[in-house]
Amino acid sequence: MEADLESLETPVDNAPVLSMKHGTITVEGYSRAAVQTYWRVPEWKIGFDLGVQPWSFMSTPNWFVSHGHLDHIAALPVLVTRRRMMKMEPPTIYMPAEIVEPCEALLRAIQRLDRGRAPARLVGLKPGDTVEISRELAVTAFPTDHRIESLGFIVWEKRKKLRPEFAHLEGPQIRDLRLSGVEVSSEFRMPKLAYMGDTAPSGLDINPDIYKAEILICEMTFVTKHERPEESHKFGHTHLEDIVARADLFQNEVIIVSHFSTRQHSDTIRKIVEKRLPDSIRDRVKIWL
Ligand SMILES: [Zn+2]
Ligand SMILES: [Zn+2]
Repeated sequence: MEADLESLETPVDNAPVLSMKHGTITVEGYSRAAVQTYWRVPEWKIGFDLGVQPWSFMSTPNWFVSHGHLDHIAALPVLVTRRRMMKMEPPTIYMPAEIVEPCEALLRAIQRLDRGRAPARLVGLKPGDTVEISRELAVTAFPTDHRIESLGFIVWEKRKKLRPEFAHLEGPQIRDLRLSGVEVSSEFRMPKLAYMGDTAPSGLDINPDIYKAEILICEMTFVTKHERPEESHKFGHTHLEDIVARADLFQNEVIIVSHFSTRQHSDTIRKIVEKRLPDSIRDRVKIWL
């Protein structure tokens, strides 16, 4: 049985967290390039990236790490050792397969420094892999275009629908069939949330489901005119102009843009982005600052 965090400790405000409600879920997180990136959906028990670990995020047991840059992974040992200290189950942390071994070495080093165990389940993923999180949720990994091995993730809601061959039947008939052991429904999956991590815009185009997910969390590291899109791509990042150029592709209900560089003040970034967004997406874009 998982310990209830709130009953064990008072909340500690150790890192900024912005929050948004959408339907039945809450998206919480914060992301600035080269500073720190972390997100979670508490209702799903799923988080993305471990740049820093806000105290409240410790109760989330499943994590998906996009890549090994420090602003996305520095808090890996923090999550692991805090959960051990609070007598919670070891977390499961999914990550690009190439970085599992160095992450295990990092945890071994922390065990020597801390003279305590750092128990965690580290699972390497390749593009195309699927993780069945629960009866209702699955997560798939897709490749993104950064300078090192990197993955994006889509969270799918699994739903059942009546097989078409039974569509003409009445409720009681369907129930009788089901009770007699006939599989009357089939499963389909809805893309609920796509998370991009760091990527050049080609990472958006590689998988059309990204544009269909209810919520899209994507990066927009650079926004000004002098930071040209081609330069951004060389560093494996996305520019405001890349999002503007794709405005017609986004079918998402909410598009969260984040991971802004520290070169500009937050107010300047907000002003530039708001001015440039086309009407077709303006109301759906959430500038995460
Ligand atoms: Zn980053
Ligand atoms: Zn990066």
